[in-house]
Amino acid sequence: MNWALIGASTIAEEHMIRAIRAQAGNRIRWVVSSDAAHAESYAARNGIDGATTDLGRALTDPQVGSVYISSTNEKHRAQTLAAIAAGKHVICEKPLAMTVAEANEMVEAARAAGVILATNHHLRCSGSHRAVRALIRDGRIGRVLSLRIFHAVHLPEHLRGWRLDDPASGGGVIPDITVHDADVARFLLNDDPENVVAQKCVSGMGQGVEDSAMSVWSMPSGAMVMSHESFSHPFAGSGFEVHGSAGSIFARGVMTQRPLGEIELVTEAGRIAVPFDNSDLYTTGVAQFLAATRGKGEPAASGADGVKSLAVAIAVREAAEGGRRIRVNYGETT
Ligand code: NDP
Repeated sequence: MNWALIGASTIAEEHMIRAIRAQAGNRIRWVVSSDAAHAESYAARNGIDGATTDLGRALTDPQVGSVYISSTNEKHRAQTLAAIAAGKHVICEKPLAMTVAEANEMVEAARAAGVILATNHHLRCSGSHRAVRALIRDGRIGRVLSLRIFHAVHLPEHLRGWRLDDPASGGGVIPDITVHDADVARFLLNDDPENVVAQKCVSGMGQGVEDSAMSVWSMPSGAMVMSHESFSHPFAGSGFEVHGSAGSIFARGVMTQRPLGEIELVTEAGRIAVPFDNSDLYTTGVAQFLAATRGKGEPAASGADGVKSLAVAIAVREAAEGGRRIRVNYGETT
């Protein structure tokens, strides 16, 4: 598979270029950026032959079969629709778009064109998350009563740009991290949140956008989810706890980009450490995407997953802004 990168971003440089090149026979032919000098230096630094500001140039390259979109959030919709119109398969970064309607439009366009649209919710590709999901599915903790997600981090210096001061680009911790946590809850519990209540605030970093949020979601099963995201917590650590009628699972240090952390299962039988696969998350995600393009299975997170996780994040923001309980509006999903 030959690829074009749309967006000369940090996430591509730190994780996705390597994940794509880890797949046998996969090459990156283009990087597309709105800034010519940035595209050139990015391409040179990362050994990519083609650098352009012309999206059409990369998309009309007949050798390109897939694109990875990691521009700022407000560009995802138009770039994805253009790639789909050119017949390319797409991995688009989260949040899929700025609104649920836009995200649904992207999913529908991919369906109509017969191409794969994946959302880069990498945590679904983590061995730790997959191990916990299997424990829950196998009934090891009985009926799930609650899930508590801890995802308050310290935003690294080199990422303190648009996330902190530009709502038009999709800044704020809710589109950045709550959307991931929504996907984690949906993945672990195999269900979609119904209602949310929330609060958000600026705790030292955000300038015009929230940098912290706490919310509670109700699931159709009756389980409750508590979710905490922040950019401003240097020592909080991350993880989640799932509590059931017959046991609890403690997953510590697992809300990361790397296959780290530990899992403990606690039941009447005692405490046991749960082993998990430590494959690279992004490499696993790209492999699953490529299999889907060959007709084998689904991407780890589909376009529809991206829509639903975005819908939860938008409900959290609406609930926090309006000070009231919000029913999650998933729109017209396919
Ligand atoms: P960056 O800020 O690194 O890059 C975003 C865009 O900013 C680039 O695409 C580029 O615009 C522009 N840009 C960046 N550096 C320069 C520069 N030196 N000169 C000119 N323009 C520059 O974003 P991130 O990598 O942090 O995030 C990109 C996307 O990926 C977001 O949607 C984010 O939500 C998502 N993300 C996902 C993660 C995951 O694990 N799934 C983790 C981190 C981010 P242009 O498009 O014009 O090239």
